[in-house]
Amino acid sequence: MSTSFAPRSDGQPLVLDHSRAPEHMAAGKVRCEACPVLCQISPGKLGACDRYGNVDGVLTRTDVLHLVARPGAELVAWQAGQAGSWDGSLLDEAATTTTDAPVFVSGIGSTTTYPDYKPAPFIVASKHEGVDLVTVVTEGIFSYCSFKVKIDTDRYLGPEQATVRHRGEAVGHVSTIEYGSQFLSLGGVHHLTGGSKKEGRIACEMMLALGNQEAVELEIEGGAKVVVGASRAPVVDGVEEKRMRVGCGSAAIGIFAPQWFGHADEVVVVDDHITGVLSEHQAGKFLDMAPSGIVLRGRRSTPGRYFQVASPGAGWGGTDIVDPLAIVEGFDSSRGARPGLRLLMVSTTGEDAAWFVLDEQLVPRPAEMPAAVAKVVERIGENCEPSLCSVLYVAGAGGSLRAGVTENPIALTRAIKQRLVNVTCGGAPVYVWPGGGITVMVDVAKMPAKSFGSVPTPAIVSPIEFTLRADDYLALGGHMDRVRSLDDVLASGGWRVVESAAGNAWPLKMPITGARP
Ligand code: SF4
Repeated sequence: MSTSFAPRSDGQPLVLDHSRAPEHMAAGKVRCEACPVLCQISPGKLGACDRYGNVDGVLTRTDVLHLVARPGAELVAWQAGQAGSWDGSLLDEAATTTTDAPVFVSGIGSTTTYPDYKPAPFIVASKHEGVDLVTVVTEGIFSYCSFKVKIDTDRYLGPEQATVRHRGEAVGHVSTIEYGSQFLSLGGVHHLTGGSKKEGRIACEMMLALGNQEAVELEIEGGAKVVVGASRAPVVDGVEEKRMRVGCGSAAIGIFAPQWFGHADEVVVVDDHITGVLSEHQAGKFLDMAPSGIVLRGRRSTPGRYFQVASPGAGWGGTDIVDPLAIVEGFDSSRGARPGLRLLMVSTTGEDAAWFVLDEQLVPRPAEMPAAVAKVVERIGENCEPSLCSVLYVAGAGGSLRAGVTENPIALTRAIKQRLVNVTCGGAPVYVWPGGGITVMVDVAKMPAKSFGSVPTPAIVSPIEFTLRADDYLALGGHMDRVRSLDDVLASGGWRVVESAAGNAWPLKMPITGARP
């Protein structure tokens, strides 16, 4: 009942066959057992997920195995130097004579050994800095998974907890706002399997696209339409976001107060969260600024810091205002307002700014902004980073998938917590959440293109690799009889080499130089 790999040397995709003849199946069909759907695939056709097909009567994975290149390594030269150097005995001295691996075998295209009581599709011995390592490689099927999307914008996207829809179906919700960014939580088992069949299918399609770094259109109940995608600028109600705010209104006052001093008598930095007023703010007090008598709408939190000056929206500083004077109730002469007072109103990105001078009746009149003030407004923009969407994939790998690694799954969980195991997704570094289970989080922009797949159960398919020292693998009850040399994997064909994303640590390095107790 095991799945085996027929060696290929022609660069074609990996081929699987089955040791058990499927029952009640038409001649020529092959049965895929890589997920619970158990497709029976006719000759020349694909399974329901397009990941497997019937090629000349043989079950075949449509994507090839992805090998991540080690920067600066020469694969061809390495292969030439490897000939006959490994005798198949993992912990034998002969196995340690090979040189450092030039590629990392990722889970992308590696196939799935569902259900997981079978060893993982690839258990590969390799070497780094003279240390023998084993990498256990698979494409996991995850229904307990989701995407956390960080959208760098101050525009109002919708109320916290609001439902996020894709093509009319509920696929997630609005999470918290962090400093200059709105978070969404998208996908997850509730939407994949807890609602209607259509909701699950649409949620899965949306998740697949997000994982594969494509743009996805979302609609937030009571809020905006947004287009998000990894490393792309968000588009809010049809307008591409350019700048992430320099800080909240109070922070902007603190940063630029000395540069405004002497050029303006009052500065209001309009912000949906904290609107800053320079003369009242601690920064203005340090500069001995005279009170301006400005009376602002909203709730005064602490001196120079106002909440709720307007409603959230797509106007100045994430508020709904288009006229900045709409948040000014007036000027009080008994508190320092005077004719000729110079007032700057500016947003937290510097995209909106206006200059006023009070007339004899203490009415603010628009005037030409002095060059020295305009320069500081420009500097606000200069200090804003480009707005981007960041897409992080979160998945729980603490279940049966572990049985593909070891006959004693808790040993893998413990070894990960002890940092004896480097967990990666497509060779990209992951963050393993503390606490129980193996909950991983990875930036999809660090993974190779098209790392994700799906199956119609519905669930997401994503690569995962566990790398550890060979002796540690033996100690945790690993499937030692299934270990293959990297040379052997290369000789079987059906792979392609992809570049590692910039900044990714070499996946084989951590088990050696990481925080080993
Ligand atoms: S949906 Fe895909 S993985 Fe599942 S059985 Fe069919 S072909 Fe195999």
